[in-house]
Amino acid sequence: MALHLILFGPPGAGKGTQAEQLARQRGIPKISTGDILREAVQGGTPIGQRAKAIMSQGRLVSDEVMIGIIRERIDQSDASNGFVLDGFPRTVIQASALDEMMVGRDPLVIIEIAVPEAELLRRLSMRMVCDKCGHTAGANAASGPGGTCEVCGGKLVQRSDDHDNVIRERLNVYHVQTQPLLEFYQARPTFRSVNGSQSPERVSADLTAAIDSVGSGMTRGARR
Ligand code: ADP
Repeated sequence: MALHLILFGPPGAGKGTQAEQLARQRGIPKISTGDILREAVQGGTPIGQRAKAIMSQGRLVSDEVMIGIIRERIDQSDASNGFVLDGFPRTVIQASALDEMMVGRDPLVIIEIAVPEAELLRRLSMRMVCDKCGHTAGANAASGPGGTCEVCGGKLVQRSDDHDNVIRERLNVYHVQTQPLLEFYQARPTFRSVNGSQSPERVSADLTAAIDSVGSGMTRGARR
């Protein structure tokens, strides 16, 4: 069965790190709308040009644009055995559109990575990214600005939307526009929540267990 996974949670919950690892382990693509948009901004494409100002203010790019991006991406051949979504859906409209795209495919597995707000603020204000390959270096003191990327040797910098006022706006946007999605998904038998305040290794182990428990629930259901 194909794994169609949504990692759901606030900015700074660790979705990107976990998505990268899961995608590698399972041989399926990680589809990160934040990465796709940042590439579009760097490449100066029409979508990138429009998204740039919106992203730098911490607001959301339009549902129409985002739905178009995802519709095209999940139809590519590398996603035929599944995918890990990071950063999509972020609104109920995006989630409903995704449900329509998934008709006739294996069900979505939705896992919330839950982290308290104070911890998110701390992580986001400390996080560093590589200015060359985009790798996130995490919120540890050893990798402050000016450090080097462990993946490609590039320079570590603060992400342009990780400044205080933008962080607050992103968290605010999350509460108002994205959190209502919890209600949208919570009642589904394929929804799980894991504690994201633990070490990346523990979160990863809990995620694997959560995905497995959805899988075994579905096989039991199918046998009945
Ligand atoms: P984070 O999860 O750390 O906030 P992302 O890298 O996922 O950051 O996204 C960065 C920015 O890209 C968002 O603040 C938003 O402006 C835009 N974006 C990403 N995904 C979406 C989406 N599904 N819908 C609308 N805007 C999005």
